Amino acid sequence: MGKLTRTAIENFTLCKYKAYLTLAKGRYPQDIEKSGASTIETAPQSTYISCEVSENSDRPNVTVSLLAQGQNLILDAQYETESAFIHFDGLVKVDGKSAAGGFHYIPLSYAARNQRHGGRKLVLEMLAVILEEVQGRPPEKGVIRYNGRDSQITLARGLKQGRRSLQTLIDMQQSSSPPALLLNQHCNVCEFQDQCYAQAVAEDNLSLLRGLSEPEIVRLRAKGIFTITQYSYTFAPRRVSKRAKNPKQPRYFALQARAIREQRIFVHGTPTLSAEGCRVYMDFEGTPDDKSYYLIGLHIVHDGTANRVSFWADDKQHEIQIFSEMLDYLGAFETYTMLHYGAYEIRALRRMQRRLPPSYEEKVNEVIKRSINVLSVIGRHVYFPLYSNSLKDVARYLGYCWSAAKASGYQSLIWRQDWVENRNDGAKSELIRYNMRTVWLFNVSPNSSNSYPASKPFLLNITATAWNIPTR
Ligand code: SF4
Repeated sequence: MGKLTRTAIENFTLCKYKAYLTLAKGRYPQDIEKSGASTIETAPQSTYISCEVSENSDRPNVTVSLLAQGQNLILDAQYETESAFIHFDGLVKVDGKSAAGGFHYIPLSYAARNQRHGGRKLVLEMLAVILEEVQGRPPEKGVIRYNGRDSQITLARGLKQGRRSLQTLIDMQQSSSPPALLLNQHCNVCEFQDQCYAQAVAEDNLSLLRGLSEPEIVRLRAKGIFTITQYSYTFAPRRVSKRAKNPKQPRYFALQARAIREQRIFVHGTPTLSAEGCRVYMDFEGTPDDKSYYLIGLHIVHDGTANRVSFWADDKQHEIQIFSEMLDYLGAFETYTMLHYGAYEIRALRRMQRRLPPSYEEKVNEVIKRSINVLSVIGRHVYFPLYSNSLKDVARYLGYCWSAAKASGYQSLIWRQDWVENRNDGAKSELIRYNMRTVWLFNVSPNSSNSYPASKPFLLNITATAWNIPTR
């Protein structure tokens, strides 16, 4: 195992397994770049938060004698022992006695845009525990520097979580066996994703089932269920009371596991999707960092004809205009049903409602009222032999090809960044094509990849295909 590093600390807040791999491989970002790992070469700077730096004799060492000099701000310092090499972005002098004098220091950390607040705080708490070792008192606060602005946050009293996390890292460093692999939300942008995914498939790992929560996986493991195959034998639908007016239709992950084991599609219950008037299939693209929504794609099926419309915003100011245009465009239809896949679009509409002129408030309410989340219908009733119900996975399973082999939500962020920074028209075209393809997938029939047929939304194709419905 390598030394305990700042990268390992940062990675620990994202994924314990990633922290282990970082310790095991002792890799620095520059090593990974040299090795040609594509995710780092192409990643928007903001999404890659590892910030390890190599050891440097010019950098000040965090020792009592350095702190005792009493500088107001110490930037770019390092703390080194036989088993640790920790980089501090900065140390800020504050009042309160310590081994260094009548003052002490609190840690300062640069924040990456995509880093969760909880993650930032935990990094600061772990750095605070290390700093306590040197100055003999725990810092009560930490500073996050983001976009040139500093904000002070209060750390948890006693730094309990920071201590526990640091101890877990030290235990990992001393252990020869890795923690259990648990795929998670960070995997999409993680440099280890190919390796971990291959391992998870080989292990038949429960965390492959997207949506199955970590506590649930822990609960299953405690019961001796470690693989999807084992889990698949446990499916038992809930008994529904005859008197229940609106019986709940939960998602049965064990049935999903069974669908994977048997390589069959199951439909449980009766999926209904009643769309009135013309059907409008809607998909938005946005950047989560600044909660911006820069592209709206609509695919409209009306009186047997299909139409596509895209609304593009060059920047955040322009977003209000594209949403107004989209709402005006929809206002021309007497009746319509808005179909979307997942909750993202409705969340975006609600957010934009606050930014739009008051005259559009009712129009947004109207769109939301006429919306159906197709994913929630599929999620409750349809079980594909897939690890996830993402539109891309389902579409691929049904035989549709994607617009670009590398197209993904993550890739779309890279294209957008390319447009923002370089005004690259190629990136803009890719985005519009990608978005339109997503909308179109709602509405295609198999093997019709070159045309835009106006009939047969794929959900209806699914329900028209016959399957076993395991009930009791
Ligand atoms: S791919 Fe996922 S599970 Fe593997 S190290 Fe990265 S975040 Fe962790």
